[in-house]
Amino acid sequence: MSKIIASAAIRGAHKIVNDARQKWQQAMDKYGANEPIGFPNTAYYLPIIYGILGTPVAKLGDAEQVLKKCQAILPPMVKEIHPLPYLAPALDAGMATLFAEEIIEAIRYLEQPNFYTKQENTVGGNIWLGAADDIILRKRGIEFVDGTAPGFAAVLGAAPSAEIAARIAQELQQKNLYVFMSAEYNGKRFSEQLLEAGVQIGWPTRLVSFGPDVSATVFALGFAIRASFSFGGIGPGEYRKHLIYNKDRIFAFALPLGYVTDEWYANAAGAINFGFPVIADTPIPEVLPTGICTYEHVVSNIPHDQMVAKAVEVRGLKVSLAEVPIPVAFGAAFEGERIRGEDIYLECGGGRTQMVEWVTSKRMDEIEDGKVEVIGPEITDVTAGSRLPLAIVVEVAGREMQDDYEPILERQIHHLINYAQGVMHIGQRDIAWLRVGKQAVAKGFRLSHIGTLLHAKLHQDFGRIFDKMQVKLYTEGDKVAEMVEKARAAYGVRDARIEGMTDETTDMYYSCTLCQSFAPGHVCVISPERTGLCGSYNWMDCKAASEINPTGPNQPVAKGEVIDAHLGQWKGVNEFVTKASRGKIDHYNFYSVVNDPMTTCGCCECIAAILPLCNGIMTVNREYTEQTPSGMKFTTLAGTIGGGISTPGFVGHGKYNITQRKFLLGDGGLLRIVWMPKMLKEEIGDRFKARAEELGVPNLLDMVADETVGVSEEEILPFLQEKGHPALTMDAIIG
Ligand code: SF4
Ligand code: ZN
Repeated sequence: MSKIIASAAIRGAHKIVNDARQKWQQAMDKYGANEPIGFPNTAYYLPIIYGILGTPVAKLGDAEQVLKKCQAILPPMVKEIHPLPYLAPALDAGMATLFAEEIIEAIRYLEQPNFYTKQENTVGGNIWLGAADDIILRKRGIEFVDGTAPGFAAVLGAAPSAEIAARIAQELQQKNLYVFMSAEYNGKRFSEQLLEAGVQIGWPTRLVSFGPDVSATVFALGFAIRASFSFGGIGPGEYRKHLIYNKDRIFAFALPLGYVTDEWYANAAGAINFGFPVIADTPIPEVLPTGICTYEHVVSNIPHDQMVAKAVEVRGLKVSLAEVPIPVAFGAAFEGERIRGEDIYLECGGGRTQMVEWVTSKRMDEIEDGKVEVIGPEITDVTAGSRLPLAIVVEVAGREMQDDYEPILERQIHHLINYAQGVMHIGQRDIAWLRVGKQAVAKGFRLSHIGTLLHAKLHQDFGRIFDKMQVKLYTEGDKVAEMVEKARAAYGVRDARIEGMTDETTDMYYSCTLCQSFAPGHVCVISPERTGLCGSYNWMDCKAASEINPTGPNQPVAKGEVIDAHLGQWKGVNEFVTKASRGKIDHYNFYSVVNDPMTTCGCCECIAAILPLCNGIMTVNREYTEQTPSGMKFTTLAGTIGGGISTPGFVGHGKYNITQRKFLLGDGGLLRIVWMPKMLKEEIGDRFKARAEELGVPNLLDMVADETVGVSEEEILPFLQEKGHPALTMDAIIG
């Protein structure tokens, strides 16, 4: 490392550590050592400190030992005639910087609780989001798992103009990267420039305005370390593993825009510890020999129009960009855009008009590949603010095509349309909802481009299963109504097929090992009556996925001999799990939380836990952030069991699974459920009641306690007794 950079980084680290010490001392004087501190709604305390040092900082007093550690690893200032190599001391300085910044930011949360919006979006005039909570981490982290987001760019400072900022941001978005923004240059900040250029910022568009100061850079690295905690199953204090995991799996880099101060250098040194290189627009000294990072550490003086390309090259990112011939930008980062009020040019569906989407198979000779027809008015035929009915009918044909694949293709329509910049899509089937923004129309976007993009992307991703595809877009009322009728008939047939299936009716289950890239020992095996715990994959999806991509993460699993029908254990499944987990786990039960449950990874929609005092089981969904009768919040539960292990007493599962007939069958089934958050009761209420009826206890849902009754076993037990909850008279839950 260059001596200039090392000296600057060490100087910057000294300043930041001193600042943290002062702020901490003042806070101690004011609040005392027992004052709770931390980032909101997370199981990982101050995540970098927790991950690297293993120290859970939960109170002001806990920070003292961390500050001592900072002092201990902080190298002396580099003297003119310093004889030592510079890399190691600079890296230590970088680490001390990050610890100190976490303390600074935690004290800010204490002193100014509303400084950050603490959610996914900007709120009113407040554009600073602050640390991502565990809900955001999970929701966004899954995109790192499934590859929709390869990593992130940490942008410090500001571009020379708002236009250049917007261009850099869009280029990063088109590469599907998240953009984490912090620090100020010349009185300007990158996030403010984006707003000035009319760009939507917030987690949904992947443009994350963490905070105004350089210390907010620590939220980007904290996000990275929580990814290795929650998806990598790496524990507190396993610093080597955390850093290696990030270097190998999180494609991140820093883009300092503007004059690089000592404090910026100190943060850059922190980032280099994670293997994240630095690409600067200013002529700072370069650090080219490779070592910690995959390629160069610091590359400087890069013109703005080449920065993103250079960063991608230096970090070794392989981005496959789809050629989608439409007049607006296209990519996953545009999925979260919202189009509202004045910005709407055309609206279809959403209860205002009829809208439907339907993929259906045809004979080969009935289809002209790539043909797109708009039957009825186009965007150019209506004025801004108009509404039209819409039916999107995708017709496919191919020797490999099967009816079972139709819903798989149909499900892509939602996100593919959303990928187009300036176009918003919600829902599916006959409850779809589309908005096309004025900006998109001004750039030349037409309804026909929906056909164009579906043709391009579906061919690219699913070309194996069909040969030809054409798209018809109907915008006349009677035609749309006719298509809705036809589509509904097709949906009915599909639904009956999967609803009617039981685990006994098939010999073949399917694995999903998609999460292994983050939770190494985790193996989902998905049967018709036990959908994937993330809620994203049911048996039919996995079957289709395995046929579409036979070497992919979904493999057929011959279930083999029954070992225990009640608990849901099969010989063939055990053999598969042993192999797929590389010996980490050799058996599990599909239908039990008490006895050797399935492995749980961090994506689970819900976590069930036994409540011994109530002789029952509770389950909590991810969105519910408060205390539960298990004594733990969702985030703590997920942090404890979510690393891909099997933990008796706890299991992750999907929301839909709760009302499937085999749910916890081995433990007494649905009748064991004694507590759920109110929001979950409401969400699955209709299906729950139907299932309770089948079980002969039609008012079961009313007997299930929620947070309005209590959040401890002691609080809910009298309620269960009063209601006569069936769990109370069942066999003892732990024998
Ligand atoms: Fe991960 Fe299991 Fe969902 Fe697959 S089914 S994505 S392995 S949680
Ligand atoms: Zn997962």
